[in-house]
Amino acid sequence: MKESEKGQALRHREMVETLRRYGIADQRVLDAFQKVQRHLFFERDATDSAYDDGAYSIGFGQTISQPYTVAYMTTLLVERVPSGKVLEIGTGSGYQAAILDALGYSVFTIERIVELYERAVKLFSRLGLNITCRFGDGTLGWDDEAPFDGIVVTAGAPGEPKLLMCQLAENGSMIIPLGNAALQEMTVMTREGDMFRREVFQRFSFVPLVGREGWHNTVF
Ligand code: SAM
Repeated sequence: MKESEKGQALRHREMVETLRRYGIADQRVLDAFQKVQRHLFFERDATDSAYDDGAYSIGFGQTISQPYTVAYMTTLLVERVPSGKVLEIGTGSGYQAAILDALGYSVFTIERIVELYERAVKLFSRLGLNITCRFGDGTLGWDDEAPFDGIVVTAGAPGEPKLLMCQLAENGSMIIPLGNAALQEMTVMTREGDMFRREVFQRFSFVPLVGREGWHNTVF
């Protein structure tokens, strides 16, 4: 192993330890973060910061989320839905989808920016990951593949996207940041028959969920 690779491997282990120190306690989640190499989801010339606990630009005004945020959302999912079929809205860099894949979920992901969608398709193929991608407005969900045991929305929504909620399986959970453009509360909606149980957790700041049941293009 080259010196630079040794340094990267060390920073990767330190990132996972940082997540543990920040309160991410589920060993399945920590193992998935140790398995997936975050630098592969960055542009080649921007990998130096890949194992810092930060959100970074991936172009087109979008970001790869902070590892802590990804770990927090993943923990909320794993605790409620330990296996099954999961839909992610907002493929972005592909990192969250790869973490879900490492946990053994069957992963479907939708991205509305065509360049990011195409980049993720190529990357998943190069890494040999069996993640199914779609280009389009994720707020409409993926009717042909529904129902989903879990739905993870990785952009901030102004309200509950009803079409997506209808695509949850019985006892399925949707993890979604809900709020205004600046700040959102991490929210879990769990389907119980025709009702949805709502749990609210800590605040985060995401890029906007843009689409028919999200923010409208004209706002951003
Ligand atoms: N999960 C991503 C990752 O691991 O890199 C996080 C990406 S970023 C925080 C949110 C992504 O959601 C952006 O790529 C953005 O284009 C996408 N997005 C926003 N609204 C969307 C929508 N209605 N449908 C699909 N993707 C959307």
